[in-house]
Amino acid sequence: MKPLVGDHIETLKPYVPGKPIEELRRERGITTEIVKLASNENPLGGSPLALAAAHKAIEEAHLYPDGAVFDLRQRLGKHLGVSPERVVAGNGSNELMEILVRTFTAPGDNVVLSQYSFIAYRIVSQVLGLEIRSVPMAEGFVHDLSAMAQAVDERTRLVFTANPNNPTGTYNNADQVKDFLQTLAARPNPPLVIVDEAYIEFVDAEDHIDSMTLHDLYPRLITMRTFSKIYGLAAFRVGYMVCSEEIAGYVNRTRAPFNVNRIGQIAATAALDDMAFVERAASLNTTERARVTTALEAMGVEVIHSQTNFVLCRCGRPGFEIYDALLDLGTITRPMNGYGLHEWVRISIGTPEQNDRLLSDLAQVLKS
Ligand SMILES: *Cc1c(COP(=O)(O)O)cnc(C)c1O
Repeated sequence: MKPLVGDHIETLKPYVPGKPIEELRRERGITTEIVKLASNENPLGGSPLALAAAHKAIEEAHLYPDGAVFDLRQRLGKHLGVSPERVVAGNGSNELMEILVRTFTAPGDNVVLSQYSFIAYRIVSQVLGLEIRSVPMAEGFVHDLSAMAQAVDERTRLVFTANPNNPTGTYNNADQVKDFLQTLAARPNPPLVIVDEAYIEFVDAEDHIDSMTLHDLYPRLITMRTFSKIYGLAAFRVGYMVCSEEIAGYVNRTRAPFNVNRIGQIAATAALDDMAFVERAASLNTTERARVTTALEAMGVEVIHSQTNFVLCRCGRPGFEIYDALLDLGTITRPMNGYGLHEWVRISIGTPEQNDRLLSDLAQVLKS
């Protein structure tokens, strides 16, 4: 009998999300408070303006969403200083990644990505049976952009980068990013380059560059952002990308007609008026990220210094063991074995109280 699926599907490993709070309660019978620091969610909750708008929108549950996502794209255009024609929204940025590989690749093409970058890039590419060129990282868990440029050939349609990156928390500086794009721009028929900026609002490094400023330098650039992190709207599944009108035109042919749900569109549009919330979340994160990093290092934990709302940590024992022992205490972190980082765990930055709990639970685990 012919197998049901090809080898690329047979060998595909499903995405393993952070463990849900309800699941941990069920599995280990934990009755005390559970702290989830596993999925880089906003510890302050969702933007209050967005939530108020969402409550109202529930009354219109019988209406289809606006297939053109008009209001949100207009508002994003204003927010970013670009034409709304250059903005495409998705059911989370994850869907946009999927749409991009579907739209711009054919069998025999390849994609280039960095060894320890967001696993979704691999999954969406493997589903299509594309060749995945995974480029080892440079010193300090940073994307090696010059090696990535070298890995690009005439069959490379897409290059995935994240700046700053998940799960390492590291970033590429302005010079590195500009050199990379300039090198590729000199090629005939250069690939699309995705710069995933899911965490850009948490960055405070002076030499980081907002890729929105680089579209003239590299017209095949795609800046990708999300409402899932700093805006605290992960449940609504809204992400967007900024690209040329030409790229947007193709994506609008291939995306599903109602890909962004109605409540999500309305909540995301309102969230863009809630800059006070964004500032509060960013400032809390900056303070707590520094405090948690220092405290972990004082415990002898190796911490990769982060520009995001999480830290990648090595505790001198297999990461899965640390994760598992923390679960017993009611704290959920993220093991990194799916990424091949067996010694590491990723810990999201929470509220001061959540972070205190993480630090004391981890101290207890490391003592035992
Ligand atoms: C969380 C995250 C996203 C956001 O994904 P959504 O589908 O928009 O929720 C995108 N890229 C990276 C690297 C992330 O970590």
